[in-house]
This record gives sequence, C-alpha cells and structure tokens, in this order.
Amino acid sequence: MDHVRETVSEVRSRIAAARSRGGHGQEVTLVAVTKTHGPDAVEAAYAAGVLDVGENKVQEAEGKMAQVAVPVRWHLIGHLQRNKARSALRFDLVHSMDSERLAAALHDEAVKAARSLDVLLQVNVSGEDSKGGVALADVPALADRLHALGTLRVRGVMTMAPFEAAEATLRTVFAGARTARVALQQAGHPAEWLSMGMSGDYEIAVEEGATHVRLGTVLFGSRT
Ligand SMILES: *Cc1c(COP(=O)(O)O)cnc(C)c1O
Repeated sequence: MDHVRETVSEVRSRIAAARSRGGHGQEVTLVAVTKTHGPDAVEAAYAAGVLDVGENKVQEAEGKMAQVAVPVRWHLIGHLQRNKARSALRFDLVHSMDSERLAAALHDEAVKAARSLDVLLQVNVSGEDSKGGVALADVPALADRLHALGTLRVRGVMTMAPFEAAEATLRTVFAGARTARVALQQAGHPAEWLSMGMSGDYEIAVEEGATHVRLGTVLFGSRT
C-alpha cells in the first residue's frame, strides 16, 4: 500500500485535466474501491486524502467498517439484495438502486429508522444483459413513482460502461446517464450526481460530466 499516496496524486491530476477538457465544471469525488483488499487499503486511501470508499458487497464492507477507525464515507456500489436492504442504512450513499422493488424495500427500512436515504439510480444505458440497472427508457416513469415514496433522496445516476468499449461507445453511455439525470430532476429529485468511470475509462467519464469516479485497480493494483 506504499504507492497509494503517489497513485492518488497522479490520478487526481488526470481527473483535473479531464475536468477542464470536458467543460462541465463539476466537482469530482474520487471513490476508492477497496473490495477484495483488506482494511489497510481503506487506511492507505484515507492517509492519501481520499475520504470516500466503495465496496460492492455488504458483508465485506461491514467487516471493514468494524476494523477501521478512519472516518471515511462508505459507498455501496454493488447489487444489493432486497433481503439485505436494512444494511443500506450503514452506507452514506447507495449507488446501486437498480429496481423499483429494491426501492420499495429501501423505503420500508428508511421509514422504520425514521430517516431518509441517499441513493443513486443505476441505469443500464448500453442494454448489455450482464449489467444491472434500469433501462434508460424506463427512467422517467420510474422517477415519478420513486418521488412519491418520499424517503429516498435520489441524488443522481450511476452507470457502468461496457469493458474495453470504443471511445465513441463510452461517450454515448455516459451521455445517456446525463439524460437519465435530467429525467430525475424533472420528476423533482435532488439529482446532481453522476457516478461513472472506473480504472479503464474514468478520464472520458470525467470529460462527460462524472461527479464520482469509482477506482479500484488503478489505485491498489489488480485484484487477482
Ligand atoms: C469493482 C468496481 C469498480 C472498480 O473497478 P476498477 O476497474 O478496478 O477501477 C467500480 N465500480 C463497480 C460497480 C465495481 O464493482
């Protein structure tokens, strides 16, 4: 984990350069994806000035939460099963709200806890079967139904681009996420965020307006 400080600084300058090329003027939050790595990865990220950590599995995340003392914000970036909806309350932001049924389950937990919950709507822009998320065409109608729930603060959109896609495809996917964000805003949600961009495509994502990039491999090396 010795190299993390150096890598974070390199990645931050690439993000800054992409941000000025893109011209969207957004703030960009670097979310360090620590899945499969130990608590030392969370500590190394924090020591390098990264305050946001992403995990894709609830159980693994909860294990690390119990082991680290540094005050990072926890992001859930992987698919959440409805029977684990309660665990969503332990995260600062759930990026992976990917169905109306999960939304209903999250709503129930938020009501029980008498609080609201910050979430992103995961949108499957490319239409690949292997990617979770709501189809772009379904977002406007769903946005209205989610707004009626009242407890879920839909702060924006999360999307994943196809791996190793051509640049034009990546740009189309990321632009689709911006379209979905507009639909959420029109339905009355406080939707300002776009969580998009991973190790292989984060610079293009930032050019296309990403406010949150989720980076694992580029910070911590391959997961083997
Ligand atoms: C693992 C993961 C990432 C990070 O991927 P890298 O390519 O290692 O940067 C980002 N987003 C999600 C949803 C992931 O599961």
